[in-house]
Amino acid sequence: MSYLASKLTAAQAVETLQMDLPADVPEGYVRLKLATASLCGTDLHYFKHFANAGFQLQNALTLGHEACATVVDANGADLVAGQLVALNPIIFCGECENCKKGLVNLCTSKRFPGSGTTIPHIDGFFREYFDFPAFCCHKVPEGTDPDHLTFAEPLSCSMHSVNVGEVAEGTKLMITGCGPMGLLAVVAAASKGAVVEVCDVREAVVDLACEVGANKGYVIGRDDLGALAASYDVVIEASGSPQAFNQALDLVKRQGKVVILSNIQPSDTPIHLHKIMLKEIDVVGSFQFNREFTEAMDLILSGKADFDKLIAARFPLSQTADALRYMADGKAFGKILLKPDN
Ligand SMILES: [Zn+2]
Ligand SMILES: [Zn+2]
Repeated sequence: MSYLASKLTAAQAVETLQMDLPADVPEGYVRLKLATASLCGTDLHYFKHFANAGFQLQNALTLGHEACATVVDANGADLVAGQLVALNPIIFCGECENCKKGLVNLCTSKRFPGSGTTIPHIDGFFREYFDFPAFCCHKVPEGTDPDHLTFAEPLSCSMHSVNVGEVAEGTKLMITGCGPMGLLAVVAAASKGAVVEVCDVREAVVDLACEVGANKGYVIGRDDLGALAASYDVVIEASGSPQAFNQALDLVKRQGKVVILSNIQPSDTPIHLHKIMLKEIDVVGSFQFNREFTEAMDLILSGKADFDKLIAARFPLSQTADALRYMADGKAFGKILLKPDN
């Protein structure tokens, strides 16, 4: 059977082509048809540079690790054909030291689709059909909107940053950067009862953050953030800018936490390390997620958060390149979704 797939063949070059599915579904795998996928900052880095965070792609690759899909062939798994499933893209080994502790995000033999971190690379979800491990497929109730369910993976990442920051009811939190990850961190933190404030250089996304749960927003360049120094229990850095990280060190209280959620890239910008020492700041990294996948699914299924507001645009799979270029332009506020052409 042939199907439509997109492939990143070089920096800025995405082709769509017809691929053939293998006749047999591998043991332990389920055959799936894409319902909705979404674009991530990671996909954008691969698209722009054929590399991300120091990982160079070794061959053409189908991008995409955020999606939900419909079961085509359950292949012996406890699933039914036609059923919608959320996809957890972390293919963990279950046996290493970290997996045994439940830290599957830090699995030392982890495999991840659409990523240069896994060699040989595994094609991602920006294609019409694919086979994926059954243990990564999570059932949802009938009637679940796939355009909301695709948020399960990115919301899990944002939820993880909220959890590693130990954000709870009443925590005074600043989120620097209102791209999709920052916006989803707003949703995650608001669901825990935190007092959430945000900042970004773009007024429109600051307004959007306030619509989805932030209590207050600041526009960098318009509002003075100087008076906010040392006033937050936790700052989540979601912009990817080293300058914003330095600003987070200013904004956080003494002995507060600064969490790095953004896909921050290697840089030569000086970091104000002395402030970490002087204020005894706890700097914590947040990479992917563990138990948060269930937490994120529950929040989506609860209907308590407005994901429609967080959808910036929808593109058919055949226009994956246009969708990535639209994201690269930086004019999209919220997530860009990909849907099968038919
Ligand atoms: Zn992602
Ligand atoms: Zn492992």
